Amino acid sequence: MRTVYLNGEFVPESEAKISVFDRGFMFADGIYEVTAVLQGRLVDFDLHLARLARSLGEMALQLSLDREQLLAIHQELITRNQLQEGLVYMQVSRGVQDRNFLYPPVGSPLTVVLYTQAKVVLDSPLAKRGMSIIGLPDLRWGRSDIKTTQLLYACMAKEQARAQGADDAWLVKDGWITEGTSNNAFIITHDGAVVTRELSRALLPGITRGALIALVKEHDLRLEERAYTLEEAQGATEAFITSSTSFIYPVVNIDGHPVGDGKPGPLTRRLRQLYIDHALAVIA
Ligand code: PMP
Repeated sequence: MRTVYLNGEFVPESEAKISVFDRGFMFADGIYEVTAVLQGRLVDFDLHLARLARSLGEMALQLSLDREQLLAIHQELITRNQLQEGLVYMQVSRGVQDRNFLYPPVGSPLTVVLYTQAKVVLDSPLAKRGMSIIGLPDLRWGRSDIKTTQLLYACMAKEQARAQGADDAWLVKDGWITEGTSNNAFIITHDGAVVTRELSRALLPGITRGALIALVKEHDLRLEERAYTLEEAQGATEAFITSSTSFIYPVVNIDGHPVGDGKPGPLTRRLRQLYIDHALAVIA
């Protein structure tokens, strides 16, 4: 049985109980982070912490735990659960209160939960096989840049993808792709440019997206941060997604159309390897 962290204590998962009045449960009034673990160590922890701080700020949540405390909790969980490869999930909600849309007074206790989950990251079959995806309308709220626990539309979209025999969906707003349901979306053009949507309130500033962009620049590849359509993606030479626990997965089919020759492309494979090298170099 796993050990999880709940409000200052490490407890067996069966003993970790949260109130039915928790605002996370009632209103999805909470934020989260997911950090990958390789060789029992955290990948780009400080970048996840910076995004956590941003999410907390946007939601007017004041977390009293500092960097050292959060890092210690992450590492303690990894040790206690003997996690080699997978992820640490952290969630902060606005705590417990009788049903009331208005926020409780500043300083009211938040609910803080962390747990580990084992997952094959480096040797994932999807990295070799590539994903098929479908396009769906982006019907999420207008602050997709905040990493809130309100993930119902992502669940609905993934279910629709599964019902159509696909692995995932890319979301389209006003004719332009924003991102994947739980990942950032990239294409590679015929002249070798790596293209992804520019940041705005319409998409999450993915940590893997940011790290990959830095690698693309470092290796003198061309980067374009701009909008593109599903049609352009279908006609691209390669396509892929980024996320903390997938790293980079090729996208080989979009709405039934093969991308390129329908197999994971060479630049995508190279970028995945560059990202893996980066992750192994920064784990802490
Ligand atoms: N977009 C969405 C909507 C996501 O849920 C995620 C993963 N949580 C990402 C992008 C990828 O972000 P990251 O690279 O930080 O995991």
